[in-house]
Amino acid sequence: MRWSQTFIPTMKEDPADAEIPSHKLMLRAGLIRQLMAGAYTYLPLGYRALRKAENIVRQEMDNAGAVELFMPALQPIELFERTGRINSFGNVLIKFEVTRRGNKVPMALGPTHEEVVTDLIARHISSYRQLPLTVYQIQTKFRNEERPRFGVLRTSEFLMKDAYSFSTSVEQLDDAYRKMYDAYVRIFARCGLEAIPVEAESGPIGGDASHEFMIPASAGEDSILRCRDCGYGANVERAETGRKRAKAAPPAADAKGIAEIATPGAGSIDAVCKALKCKPHKMIKTLIYKADDKTVAVLIRGDHDANENKIRRALGAKTVELADEATILAVTGAPTGFAGPVGIKCDIIADHDIPLLQAAITGANKVDAHFVNVCLGRDYQLPVTAEGDYETFDLRNAAADDPCPRSAGKLELVHGIEVGHVFKLGTKYTVALDATFLDEKEQRHPIIMGCYGIGVNRIIAGLAETKHDENGLIWPMSVAPYEVLVVPLNVTDPQVMEAAEKIYTQLKGQGVDVLMDDRDARPGFKLKDADLIGIPLRVVIGGKGLKDGVAEIKWRTAADPVLIKLDMTVNEVT
Ligand code: ATP
Ligand code: MG
Ligand code: MG
Ligand code: MG
Repeated sequence: MRWSQTFIPTMKEDPADAEIPSHKLMLRAGLIRQLMAGAYTYLPLGYRALRKAENIVRQEMDNAGAVELFMPALQPIELFERTGRINSFGNVLIKFEVTRRGNKVPMALGPTHEEVVTDLIARHISSYRQLPLTVYQIQTKFRNEERPRFGVLRTSEFLMKDAYSFSTSVEQLDDAYRKMYDAYVRIFARCGLEAIPVEAESGPIGGDASHEFMIPASAGEDSILRCRDCGYGANVERAETGRKRAKAAPPAADAKGIAEIATPGAGSIDAVCKALKCKPHKMIKTLIYKADDKTVAVLIRGDHDANENKIRRALGAKTVELADEATILAVTGAPTGFAGPVGIKCDIIADHDIPLLQAAITGANKVDAHFVNVCLGRDYQLPVTAEGDYETFDLRNAAADDPCPRSAGKLELVHGIEVGHVFKLGTKYTVALDATFLDEKEQRHPIIMGCYGIGVNRIIAGLAETKHDENGLIWPMSVAPYEVLVVPLNVTDPQVMEAAEKIYTQLKGQGVDVLMDDRDARPGFKLKDADLIGIPLRVVIGGKGLKDGVAEIKWRTAADPVLIKLDMTVNEVT
């Protein structure tokens, strides 16, 4: 591409209304322009970078076994009514009415696609044979953000990769989640971004296990606690929510016991394992907590039914009170998902394919045997083990300088930009929208879901925010709008242009993404623009070098150029 033929409106000065480096630089380098608050045009240079990031995301999704589809941005309001998200999204959901044949039809612009995709699956999947399945799309989302700001970091209309997994068991969900999590690690690494996974609350989307991928940056609107030693991290929101829940929980004095089972020989982890005829294997270690010498809590991860109220209602009078002397508390559900007076249904455990635990919970697994008033922190603590990525810790009192729950390090507080998010959703949407499957025995169950989002614009803005210097942007090769910039210093000199054209054509012929600055402008001006737009490799032709038969090659990150013979330049660059 020739600069004179494309549209790269660079700016010398910082725009007055931009506060943070990425916003200033993306405007100055001619990547984006604002239409109105929260709505931006991607100019050719910005759009090329966006497309490259999108393609990396697409490749890694495909490699992870997800299949691409494309759903409408226009969505019927009715679906949001059925899941209750018309309320939880509130003003963020863009709603409107259209008139069709004289009738008013209420609609929304999709802020995300759980409803649409679950409705689709509900209509077309009915058997365990059709599962597991993970689908994804890369598509524009609409959210009426209260405070759109910081350029394309937070807009009302943005490009999201959203994936949804559908499983018949917790193990299938864990597998899908792990594949997405690993794909995210690869995506951000390939994009040259430092994005750290942190434990997260799952917000209005619901569900019980969630990680966010955060780019540490002072402009980030999230606060994260992270350990420098072991890399463990958590969103502070999570600690806050834990604190609020702890407050809402009933006082300990009112709390009687909770469970109804007593496994013979219980009393310590070893004794429990002995009684269960199992070794304290990794999973069990994660799940069993020794509260004191007499009490053991067995925590089962993966609550399928996130709808606590529904459970509570279903419990009714059938709730079982725990005798004071009971020694085992068997608790199902999301460890962080309940801390107040909620009842947790135990027959859900039957879906687990962890035979040892199924054996452990036999008592509580009876139909209509339930626990109430289980309170995280008061009745049990979460276990801390070094194994496994997904340990969930009780962070309700966590703050900077506290010991890391996982290693000997200390937590530090940093700001982060949320660039991706993975959730184990459970059955919140499939129950609401009636997406079920028949198992081998013709028994019907709700499908178990996960959802996985990446903000593609935030990949670009996050790079601009964290990879730049005082002269401009510094693109990684993988996402750079062009890989090489050829700069003929004086376009009116036929010799310069002949040499430049030759190199430009040869590079293009080799499949290199090359841009040639063919503008008739001062060399100083062109070199400044070259730094500003941040193309990784720059080839300068002209001046004394040309007389000596050499071109100047310079990496954007290097202090000095190197001189290469003109006829060797293409070899050197490719
Ligand atoms: P935030 O906390 O920043 O509001 P979110 O948690 O609401 O983001 P998700 O619902 O998890 O966002 O959406 C998945 C991804 O979409 C986010 O991780 C983020 O990268 C991106 N994203 C969300 N909202 C916006 C927005 N307004 N502008 C640009 N990207 C966004
Ligand atoms: Mg949001
Ligand atoms: Mg968020
Ligand atoms: Mg999120």
